[in-house]
Amino acid sequence: MSANPEALQALHDRLRACRLCLDEGYDVYPRAIFSGEYGARWMVIGQAPGITEKEAGRPFNAGSGSRLFQWLAQAGVDQAWFRATQYMTSVTKCYPGRARSGSGDRVPTRREQALCRPYLEQEIALVDPRLIIPVGRLAIGLFYAPTCSMEEIIGTQKQVDERWIVPLPHPSGASRWHQSEANRARVSQAITLLRGHYERMFTPL
Ligand code: SF4
Repeated sequence: MSANPEALQALHDRLRACRLCLDEGYDVYPRAIFSGEYGARWMVIGQAPGITEKEAGRPFNAGSGSRLFQWLAQAGVDQAWFRATQYMTSVTKCYPGRARSGSGDRVPTRREQALCRPYLEQEIALVDPRLIIPVGRLAIGLFYAPTCSMEEIIGTQKQVDERWIVPLPHPSGASRWHQSEANRARVSQAITLLRGHYERMFTPL
């Protein structure tokens, strides 16, 4: 697969037409949500679109997006610039609907994740970002062993295939993970790492 803008556009066309989860009986809203173009140097990978992302048609649109972009702003990253120039996607790209419990959105099943995984692998190969921010447990699980705890991972970074991986917790306001002082310090450390990468990659000498 050769990486070029046309190949990425073709992938986006396939994503927009994809109904794989519906065909297997999953009650997803079949509209793949992602944003960004060829040549982006940073890629954010979330879990799956929420209801506000589904309605707005863009990733990290409202509540979760507010907190994510607050964190990025602390790293010196402007939201409008980021949305216009960098890449945002998720482990599964169609809104999975509400959880049966009625509380929050349904977490995509392993099968849905597997169905969507080749798309994510192609996005990474075609965009070829220098830094990936996996956001939340599902996305972090793409790069870290399931035995690693969030406490061990957040605030650290590693290189995979010459890309930096800087994980962040899920930015949902419903998440209690952020509420402890120790975990807020871990997020601050992750923001410091991101600031360093941002200054190295995007600030003119
Ligand atoms: S979540 Fe992914 S695999 Fe499932 S229908 Fe949407 S684009 Fe296709």
